[in-house]
Amino acid sequence: MVYPIVKFGDPVLEHEAEIVTEFDTPELHKFLEDMFESMYAAKGVGLAAPQIGFARKIAVIDASNGENSGDKIVLINPQIVHTEGKQEGEEGCLSIPGFREQVRRAKRVIVRAMNAKGEEFEKTGEDLLARAFLHETDHLNGRLYITHISALKRDLMRRKIKKLQRAGDWE
Ligand code: ZN
Repeated sequence: MVYPIVKFGDPVLEHEAEIVTEFDTPELHKFLEDMFESMYAAKGVGLAAPQIGFARKIAVIDASNGENSGDKIVLINPQIVHTEGKQEGEEGCLSIPGFREQVRRAKRVIVRAMNAKGEEFEKTGEDLLARAFLHETDHLNGRLYITHISALKRDLMRRKIKKLQRAGDWE
């Protein structure tokens, strides 16, 4: 099923999610299917469980946006274990629709995570994939990409969002 995306302002997005301890259950497999479905429906390349209202350390990524099933990545309890280099680029978030900002990120990262079966693995990402690993892992730690932009830009964004909220255009 496709879940609605939780928007900025909901506290679930700004608290660390809970570590997953049960693996390979029918519930987990169904949940992962629903996460991919929800991400594709929202036309995203990554989605973290808090973004559909579940405070659990689970994220899904598909940098091809469904074009290539081999690109589907499941990250459970992920940790960034290595970063190198720098990249500048625009970043957005399904939970903050209509906004994009320049965010400096590492160019190459290694993420350590578990798969649906509870097996630990490491995966290297460069460029867009590195950005996705960092963005989604941040989500699971209660951090949004706007914590990486200047306070001035962040305040401006918050004010615009408050206006949208007051007008009822942010739900
Ligand atoms: Zn996001």
